[in-house]
Amino acid sequence: MSARGGVVYLVGAGPGDPGLMTARSLELIASADAIFHDRLIPPGALDGARADAELIYVGKAPPADGPKTSGISTESARRLSVAQEDTNSRLVEAARAGKSVVRLKGGDPFVFGRGGEEGEALRAAGVEFEVVPGVTAGVAATAYAGIPVTHRDDASAVAFVTGHEDPEKDETAIDWEALARFPGTLVFYMGVKRLATNAAALIDAGRDPDEPAAAVERGTMAGQRTVAATLGTIAEVVEREEVRAPALIVVGSVVERREALAWLERRPLHGKRVVVTRARAQASGLAATLRELGADVVELPAIRIEPRIDAEEVRRAVGRIGQYALICVTSPNGAHLLFEALNEAGLDGRAFGVGGPEAKGLGRPEKKQVGEVGTAAAPAGSVIAAIGPGTGRALAEHGIQADVVPERFVAEALVEAVEGVEVEGKPVLIARAAEARDVLPDALRERGAEVDVVSLYETVREDPDPAAVEAARTADYVTFTSSSTVTNLTEALGDSFPKSARVVSIGPITSETARAAGLEVHAEAKRHDIDGLVAALLADAR
Ligand code: SAH
Repeated sequence: MSARGGVVYLVGAGPGDPGLMTARSLELIASADAIFHDRLIPPGALDGARADAELIYVGKAPPADGPKTSGISTESARRLSVAQEDTNSRLVEAARAGKSVVRLKGGDPFVFGRGGEEGEALRAAGVEFEVVPGVTAGVAATAYAGIPVTHRDDASAVAFVTGHEDPEKDETAIDWEALARFPGTLVFYMGVKRLATNAAALIDAGRDPDEPAAAVERGTMAGQRTVAATLGTIAEVVEREEVRAPALIVVGSVVERREALAWLERRPLHGKRVVVTRARAQASGLAATLRELGADVVELPAIRIEPRIDAEEVRRAVGRIGQYALICVTSPNGAHLLFEALNEAGLDGRAFGVGGPEAKGLGRPEKKQVGEVGTAAAPAGSVIAAIGPGTGRALAEHGIQADVVPERFVAEALVEAVEGVEVEGKPVLIARAAEARDVLPDALRERGAEVDVVSLYETVREDPDPAAVEAARTADYVTFTSSSTVTNLTEALGDSFPKSARVVSIGPITSETARAAGLEVHAEAKRHDIDGLVAALLADAR
């Protein structure tokens, strides 16, 4: 059910991984009139908000154990509480104005999230509210670090403790004796700043200094890191390793289960920051694959695809599509745009003309192998050639099985692969990007074909997003999927190009462009497609 006017929803956004947001939270974000959010919410959490929704940041700058809150003064304490009262009254005001209001918080709203206070203020003001629990960091960051907070053999209880108390409280409310005796796992939120004091207090109260302990920094987020020690040494290790908020401190023998259970940190690209330079529309597949492998992906698109399917030459080619003896499609973008152009002309895949592979003399489809083409007699209907498996898949999405798909995706391989197709004196279509090489048209013309070269799109430079450029500075890898990504990124970044990053290229032509731009190429795909690129990166990272 979508958000109702006049109601405030106290919503947990989970610990940082966008995938851990609840279905209910996404539904409310998508329908709310106003969203009041903290700083610590997952990246892209607000992407689904309505275009006309009010997005209001009400975070209190750094989290409670952030560097700036050391030795909280009465003045800053007063400011924090004023900020909270201010938030409460803004929530009330918005709801009274009839808006549907989402109050979005990191983790769970009632676990060290002041959701209780906000709910009380709403109740006092007579405003209806709903609480949407979120996945709290105490179970999520630990799970991502391979630490089960309970375990049949080790821990039959878990305690969530604040390591940093409300600065307004005069006396400590933490009963260290009770915590020392607590028969289970201790999970401290906001515990980095006061770790040394707290650990000492626990040991003084009788907890074993040799008990395993760990700090989980940025759990479930890009850059998650875990350091393990013992209760006696954790403070020192955390300081030496410069662990920063947000981080949790876990005390308990369950920490040792990490040996077997640290699933995430064992992924092959864990801890590696990888820049993806493909156009935004194409980047998602590569970015998702790299993230699955554990990489911290920075999307820094260098190019953008500008379709030109309304161009006269495209319309003309589409108009005579059934007459071509051979149609060569040289990229997945080209495949999709060719179909867009067909659709605009009121056509679909049937326009390619009749006659399956047999009619084209290419042998039965089940015998056809990638990289191979049968002996071509006089084809009825067009022979369709895709430059590589990715383009073949893109055509397949539109219901077309390419007849020819060379394994290597360079023009030379396609020239070879279509050698068996009879083209002399016949019309041939090459559907491609505006700025492609002429290897294929030249070769076909030489064989007497009447070649129409049609540019379905242009690639133009994308303005780099400053935040992504900043993130890319510390990249371990930059991936290039085409010459145009190399040229546009190096020109756009100039001196900001991350010099320490290793460069991975999709193939020899892209590598050549990279070298010409003054870059060293550290790895090159053997198969010139996205899977090949990922394989080359993995091999290099090993
Ligand atoms: N309501 C939140 C907690 C807010 S208090 C929840 O339920 O998770 C903020 C503290 O939570 C941080 O100081 C840190 O100790 C912990 N925390 C939040 N997100 C975290 C994360 N991704 N990794 C590790 N600790 C996190």
